[in-house]
Amino acid sequence: PQTSETMGFQAEVKQLLHLMIHSLYSNKEIFLRELVSNASDACDKLRFEALDKPELFESDPNLRVRVDFAKEAKTITVSDNGIGMSREDAVSNLGTIARSGTREFFSQLTGDKQKDAQLIGQFGVGFYSSFIVADKVTVRSRRAGLPSSEAIEWVSDGQGEFSIANIDKADRGTEIVLHLRADEEELLSNWKLREILRRYSDHISLPVEMPKEEWDEEKSEMKRTGDWEAVNQASALWTRSKSDITEEQYKEFYKHVSHDFEDPLAWTHNRVEGRSEYTQLLFVPKRAPFDLWDRDAKRGVKLYVKRVFIMDDAEQLLPSYLRFVRGVIDSADLPLNVSREILQESRDVRTIREGSAKRILSLLEDLAENRKEDYATFWATFGQVLKEGTGEDMANQERIAKLLRFASTHNDSDVQDVSLTDYIGRMKEGQDKIYYVTAESYNAAKSSPHLEIFRKKGIEVLLLWDRVDEWMLSHLREFDGKSLASVAKGGLDLEALADEEEKKKQSEVADTFKPLVERLTKSLDDKVKEVRVTLRLVDSPACVVVDENEMSPHLQRLLQSAGQ
Ligand code: ADP
Ligand code: MG
Repeated sequence: PQTSETMGFQAEVKQLLHLMIHSLYSNKEIFLRELVSNASDACDKLRFEALDKPELFESDPNLRVRVDFAKEAKTITVSDNGIGMSREDAVSNLGTIARSGTREFFSQLTGDKQKDAQLIGQFGVGFYSSFIVADKVTVRSRRAGLPSSEAIEWVSDGQGEFSIANIDKADRGTEIVLHLRADEEELLSNWKLREILRRYSDHISLPVEMPKEEWDEEKSEMKRTGDWEAVNQASALWTRSKSDITEEQYKEFYKHVSHDFEDPLAWTHNRVEGRSEYTQLLFVPKRAPFDLWDRDAKRGVKLYVKRVFIMDDAEQLLPSYLRFVRGVIDSADLPLNVSREILQESRDVRTIREGSAKRILSLLEDLAENRKEDYATFWATFGQVLKEGTGEDMANQERIAKLLRFASTHNDSDVQDVSLTDYIGRMKEGQDKIYYVTAESYNAAKSSPHLEIFRKKGIEVLLLWDRVDEWMLSHLREFDGKSLASVAKGGLDLEALADEEEKKKQSEVADTFKPLVERLTKSLDDKVKEVRVTLRLVDSPACVVVDENEMSPHLQRLLQSAGQ
C-alpha cells in the first residue's frame, strides 16, 4: 500500500467547510457533540460486527469515548475504541459527501449567513464541524481486525486538501486531534469541556470519559490522578424512565440519532409490554430533510435489540407514510442476528410497525388538539406525506382523515388549515356531501367555474392541488358518513339544497332550452356523452363536467403529463 499521498476534497466538501466556518461560528461548541456522536456510532458498529466476530474486541471489550486536552500543545483529542477506519474508509468518509440531496442543498444556499446556517443544520454538520474551532485536524485510526501496521493518519487544514499516510497504531479505533485556532484557548479547560459534554452528550449510552482531577492541597490547584472518569450517565436514554429525562436530553438525543441540527417538534417515548416487548422513542422533526421526496433516500429509525445497535434506517419498522419520523426502537423479541430480509417477514416487526403508527398518530392528534401552531408547522412540512396514509393504512384511515387539513373557499387563502370536521360543522342544512375541487395550483382551484354555484349558495368547497390529492381521493371516499364529492363530476344533486322557487325555475329553463340542448347534442355527438341544462353556473355560459365514475379533468391531465 502507498504510504503518503495528498488528495483534494470533493468540491462540495470545500464549499461546506468554508460555509461552516463562517456561518456556524456562534454555535461552535457543537463540534464536540458531532465528534462524540460519531465515536458513539463507531462503538455501536463494532459491537454489532462483533456479534459474529467476537475477536474484533481484541483485548479491549469495554467500549468508551475519551475527551482530553493539552494546554501547551493547544489540542483537544476525542478518541474511541470503536470500529475505526481503513485507508479507504477515511478517504471516502472524510473527503467526500455521499448523500442524496447534496445537489439541492448546494443549489439552495443564498450567501446569507443566517439562512445558510439553518440550511447547513438541516443538511447535517458532522465531522467537518471540527474546522470551526481547529485550523488543523489529525485523525489516526485503525479499523478493527486490521493489523496495527495498517492504521492510517489523515491530516488537513480544512482548506482544500488532506494527506493520508499509513502509520502504526496498536489500539483499535479512532483518535481525532484538533489543533485549535489561536482564539479558542478557552476550550482548553477541564470544566469547560465537561460542561459542553454534559449539555450535548449526556444521552450517549457509552461512558464519555475525561481525565480525573483532584485538588492538590500543596500546590493549591487541580491535579490529574491518571485515571479516567465518566462525565455522563452512560445508560441508553430510551431505557431510562421518562421522569428522569429532561427536555434537553430528549432534544440532544434526537440530534444524535437524526443527524439534525434543530430541535424536534415533538416526541413519544413508550415501553410496550405484552405479546411483543419493545421500547420506542420516536420524534417528529421540525423541518423536512433535503431528501424527503427522494425515493432512494434513507429513512426509518434505528433498530436496537436488547440495547445492542443492529441497524440504521430500519424502514420496515414504520409505514411509509410516516417516513419522516426518526428515533429508536429497541426490541426484546427479535434475534440479534436479524437481517433486513427477516425484518420484512417478521410478525414481531408487523406488531411494532402497527404500534408505532398508532403512537405517532396519537402524538399528532395531541399536537392538533393542544399545540395548534406546532401542528400547522407539521402540516406545512409533512402534510403531503401523511396524506399517503389514507390509502396505505386502511386500518387507521379514519384517524388519518381527521388529521388532514385543506384550503377551502371558507378562508379564501392557500393555507391548509381546514379539517374535515370543521367542514362538516359548517355544512348547510340538507347538504350531505363534502365538496372539493382539484386543480394544478391553488389559483386554478379557487377560480374554477365549477365553484360558482357553490359560492352563490354559500356552500364551502375544499380546494385541493397537491400531487398526492387525486390518489388520496381514490381511497378516501367518505368521512363521518358523508361522501366526498368533486364539484366537477356528474349531476350535482344540489336539489336538496334548492328552494321551491329554484326548482320551478330549473324545470322552466329546461323546457325553454330543450331545442338548444337537442341541437348541441347532435352537433357535439362524438365529443360528449350528454348535454344538459344546469343551474350550477352563475357567470360562465357553459362548462365541461365528467361523469360520477370517471376521472376528473385534473387527473386526466396528470396522467397525460406522465405519458399515460
Ligand atoms: P454522519 O455521522 O452523519 O455519517 P459525519 O460527517 O459525522 O457524518 O461522519 C462521516 C463519516 O465518517 C461517518 O459516517 C463515519 O463513517 C466516519 N467516521 C467519523 N467519525 C468516525 C469515528 N470516530 N470512527 C469511525 N468512523 C468515523
Ligand atoms: Mg456524525
